[in-house]
Amino acid sequence: MKILLTNDDGIHAPGLMALRDAFSRKHEVTVVAPDRQRSAIGSSITLFEPLIVRRYEEKGMPHYSVSGTPADAVKLAVRELFGGRPDVVLSGINHGLNSGSNIFYSGTVAAAFEASMFDLPAIAVSGEARADADVRGMARRTLEIVRRILPQAKRGVVYNLNFPARKPRGLLVTRQEMVIYQDSFARRQDPRGRIYYWLHGSPEEKYDGRGAPEGEGLPTDAWALANGYASLTPLHRNLTDSERTHELKALFPGRPTPARDRNGV
Ligand code: MN
Repeated sequence: MKILLTNDDGIHAPGLMALRDAFSRKHEVTVVAPDRQRSAIGSSITLFEPLIVRRYEEKGMPHYSVSGTPADAVKLAVRELFGGRPDVVLSGINHGLNSGSNIFYSGTVAAAFEASMFDLPAIAVSGEARADADVRGMARRTLEIVRRILPQAKRGVVYNLNFPARKPRGLLVTRQEMVIYQDSFARRQDPRGRIYYWLHGSPEEKYDGRGAPEGEGLPTDAWALANGYASLTPLHRNLTDSERTHELKALFPGRPTPARDRNGV
């Protein structure tokens, strides 16, 4: 299996190395990742600067460090660097959970979405950020989970996998938690007397325990993780709210007829 491995914590991050080492025993791994920490950058791409790529070998595997974002790294890999198409794109293991509203900011998940835009099977992997986190164990478990997902992986879907810090009680299929976490800012004064603000706090610390499974329904990702399970959520790129389109059609009932030329006339 040919694997493209990326992340948003930078090419030297322990989580990326753990995945690389776990998968390279039996598979062909190519690493293309940002040259530095690029977390919380979402799907940003670089338009007004050139991208510098540095290639080196480590443990017999090609590594490309990219002076851009996770999405840049995936685009470059698929178009220029990888040579052919990977069988799967892995992003992670991120230092910190990517559940609930974190998904919108995550560079880790964004890299997987970028891969899905090329119709490649894409899996984002994140782990709870704790000093005693068992990153090697997460990587081993990811290998098992990817083996099971891949034969039936759907195009355009991102599989969002999250691990608690220590050995999970099991793996649950989940839905995205929709609780909006309360951001908080430290307000301080700099040496020149100016006030500055610094966003702080980790959403996972503030999770209030909602999102439990209802009847036969799925628990949320945040609930599964707070209860010691690993969490697997399928995500898609299309954000259209199909139910609301019916409401809007009542207000704006225009019917689509094709324009005669490309200028719409
Ligand atoms: Mn990160």
